[in-house]
Amino acid sequence: MENEITGKTRLAGLYALPARHSFSPMMHTTSFQETGVDAVYLSFDVPPEKLGTSIQAIRDLEMLGVNLSMPHKMAAVQYVDELSQAARLIGAINTIVNQDGKLIGHTTDGIGCMESLKQNQINVIGNKITIIGAGGAATAIITQAAIDGVAAIDVFNIKDDFYQKVEPKLTEIAKETQCKIELHDLANEQRLAESLAASCLLINATSIGMAPNTDQIPLPDVKLLRKDLAVFDVIYHPGETQLLHEAKKVGAKAVNGLGMLLYQGAAAFELWTGKKMPTELIQPLLEKEIKK
Ligand code: NDP
Repeated sequence: MENEITGKTRLAGLYALPARHSFSPMMHTTSFQETGVDAVYLSFDVPPEKLGTSIQAIRDLEMLGVNLSMPHKMAAVQYVDELSQAARLIGAINTIVNQDGKLIGHTTDGIGCMESLKQNQINVIGNKITIIGAGGAATAIITQAAIDGVAAIDVFNIKDDFYQKVEPKLTEIAKETQCKIELHDLANEQRLAESLAASCLLINATSIGMAPNTDQIPLPDVKLLRKDLAVFDVIYHPGETQLLHEAKKVGAKAVNGLGMLLYQGAAAFELWTGKKMPTELIQPLLEKEIKK
């Protein structure tokens, strides 16, 4: 399709604060052009007090929908008409789809992680995994993994105020999905060693190791890594965290968070358009943007 704005061009966008640093406008507008969808995607700095009216604008302006990022993922839930199963369990959304004025809230971060694992031939369905962190990214991954059929998930987090808050949420996810989910104190090294010994995958869902703190690692001892324990890190900057570096050293599969970022966008794109995002085209563009 020619890169032309017409009277029929539809709008999608990102509501966040700040929003202008996002890779999503490049990802989605390129994909619209490539797949012949007459739409554009723009970033909007939306302050919390304007979130409700901005979401109403999706209906009023007949937008395709939006993505939501910090600080709106939880607050936006109250303004939509329906939630996907994962969004309801998590209590947060990162995508709104406008179905003829009815707004459906979805969460695609977990879908992005699961798709990235699949693309890297890491089979977790029916198996046990260990995840470090219990924040936004972690909860999205845990929920989608449980829905998709991962048998057991051991979650390790620092025992702080947040720990108590996340426990009932994990219980609820476990109850609805029949996945065995246990929350443990990250300081319990013995328990962590036992969990990893029984797991096929370790996920780092914390920001430990993210630039500029690239020398940090979320494990107490790299001896816990082994060849048949795949490692997934939600971090994509740097492209290889210390954790992934150590995993590669023992011959394990080591995957960074770039695929999760790509496929969460691809899932939103498909929800809006019914079309597959041309991920083979977008991935190198994303890699280039991240290196800038
Ligand atoms: P949150 O703040 O919601 O969660 C962070 C988690 O990390 C919490 O469980 C927190 O524990 C834990 N944590 C933070 N610092 C430490 C530490 N020093 N030691 C142990 N645990 C720690 O953040 P998000 O979940 O939104 O983001 C986490 C990471 O995931 C970020 O690096 C982000 O960039 C990345 N991300 C990647 C995505 C992708 O597509 N690849 C998508 C979304 C996020 P507590 O709260 O108890 O302190």
